[in-house]
Amino acid sequence: MGLLDGKIALVFGVANKNSIGWGIAKALQREGATIVLSYAMDRLEKRVRPLGESIGCELMLQADVSSGDELDAVFAAVEEQYGKLDVLVHSIAFADRESLGGRFVELSRAGLLAAIDISAVSLIELSRRAEPLMKDGGSIMSLTYNASRQVIPNYNAMAIAKAALEAITMYLAADLGQSKIRVNAISAGAIKTLSAGGIAGFRDLLKYAEVTSPMNELVSQDDVGDLALFLASDLSRRITGEVIYVDAGHNIMGYTDVEALARQLD
Ligand code: NAD
Repeated sequence: MGLLDGKIALVFGVANKNSIGWGIAKALQREGATIVLSYAMDRLEKRVRPLGESIGCELMLQADVSSGDELDAVFAAVEEQYGKLDVLVHSIAFADRESLGGRFVELSRAGLLAAIDISAVSLIELSRRAEPLMKDGGSIMSLTYNASRQVIPNYNAMAIAKAALEAITMYLAADLGQSKIRVNAISAGAIKTLSAGGIAGFRDLLKYAEVTSPMNELVSQDDVGDLALFLASDLSRRITGEVIYVDAGHNIMGYTDVEALARQLD
């Protein structure tokens, strides 16, 4: 018997096999959930469809989270096919390249607002549509990164979007508690994915995370998937409004011995 037998999980944000959303979808399916995938645009279909088929997905639906009509269509299709929803995964982020690098003080208003809209406000848009389908309560989760709480070079607009996402998580949790819906954010350590490729110096960031985390290890999509499984299941039944880290402990480190770091980086 699986932890998620009989549950329906809708996962937004699978672009390819390296996506964190894919690690999550696999973990949820492994424990018995029926998975519905939603991907951003038509050209991703050829990558997403074979992945979905490999875990028995019946529904794979295109939707850009900035389109209310496309989101309505996704939730209508879930309702028609399954009549309910138990788990919602938001694994989505976007910022244009100029809004990630350069001086923070030069960040463009348009670039910042677009990043916040697609990466954070969309969680409200998805949650509002999910609530009526989560008739027996449910679990909503999103993906954040510690650039929301500590300054990380080249995350500019995304860092602010993640701070907004974490605040939205808290406010949604407070509001949706009356419907027995839990809302949490997973703060994942750095992982090589399509989106991460847009961050200048990401390779160095990975190396730094590895050598300075207490466990001297990087995090994988499957590590995040297992935390998502916990959050989707009844094991986390009294946990809501939290930001939970899966980063080999990297976020707790305030200072690293410079000489030891130099030796490890050699
Ligand atoms: P990814 O590129 O595989 O996933 C990002 C997804 O967002 C893609 O599927 C993309 O199509 C989707 N997306 C972008 N704009 C969209 C839109 N307008 N409508 C619908 N979907 C849209 O990269 P990933 O690293 O798996 O990112 C998933 C989540 O994990 C993001 O929220 C990211 O910020 C977060 N995260 C990533 C890392 C990392 O190091 N990779 C660390 C912590 C958190």
